[in-house]
Order: sequence, then structure tokens, then C-alpha cells
Amino acid sequence: MHCPFCRHTDSRVVDSRTADDGTVIRRRRQCPSCSRRFSTIESASLSVVKRSGVGEPFSRSKVISGVRKACQGRPVTDDQLAVLAQKVEESIRLTGVSEIEAHDVGLAILQPLKDLDLVAYLRFASVYRNFDSLEDFEKAIAELREQSDA
Ligand SMILES: [Zn+2]
Repeated sequence: MHCPFCRHTDSRVVDSRTADDGTVIRRRRQCPSCSRRFSTIESASLSVVKRSGVGEPFSRSKVISGVRKACQGRPVTDDQLAVLAQKVEESIRLTGVSEIEAHDVGLAILQPLKDLDLVAYLRFASVYRNFDSLEDFEKAIAELREQSDA
């Protein structure tokens, strides 16, 4: 880490502490050249790239609000949605990427949503995969039947 004052190419960590439930680490650093101190914040970055090309930090609450619509009237609790959003984030982080397209976030939502509620899954999939005919629904339902038989 370059010193922001003298641009020295190295710095020494004098203190580290976690913040935000352990998702962020704040470090105090000291420059061995000019001795000035500065702080850095470190987090495992994960940003979502929208179709417009603009990136924004991954947000579990956006996942939840996207899925909540599909869950209207279904016996799905807020706690279950929170767990689903956590699973989605974990599955994306496990792939090791630091950037993901919004479309691929939808893909990561499908599996845990299927485990949670089949009707909500079909609703979400119909929007996400652009179902435009009864055949699309029939195919998706046939897939679900096959999987539940297996
Ligand atoms: Zn310096």
C-alpha cells in the first residue's frame, strides 16, 4: 500500500480491527519513510454490474426485495428471505469473482428459491427467464416434477 503523503511504496500495519460484523477490516498504517499515519478499509469486494454497465456493491436487501414480489401470498417469512439472500451471497462469493452481472445474480437466486417455495420459484423464473408462453411454464413444471421424482 503506497503512502498517500509521500508515495513511498510500502507501509506498516500498526493496528487492525474488524467492523460491520466482520465483513470489513480497518487498518491503521504507518509510512516507514515519512512516519505519517493513515487508515485503510479492507473488504472482500463484490459488485453487481447492471445492464447499463454501471457497477454497485452487492446488496442482500436488493436480493430480498426482488424475491419478495415473487413470494407474495406465499408462506415465506422474512427470516427465510434473509437466509436465502445469505445463501445467494455465499454461493456467489464461493465462485471467487469480485464482479457479477445482475443477470447472474438472478441465476444464483433460482436454486435456493426452488428449495424454499415452488410457486414463488415459478413466478421468479417466469420473469427472470422471460417465459412468454404456456409451454415455457409447462416445461419448467415438468422439470420440477422430474427433479422431485429423482
Ligand atoms: Zn510517507
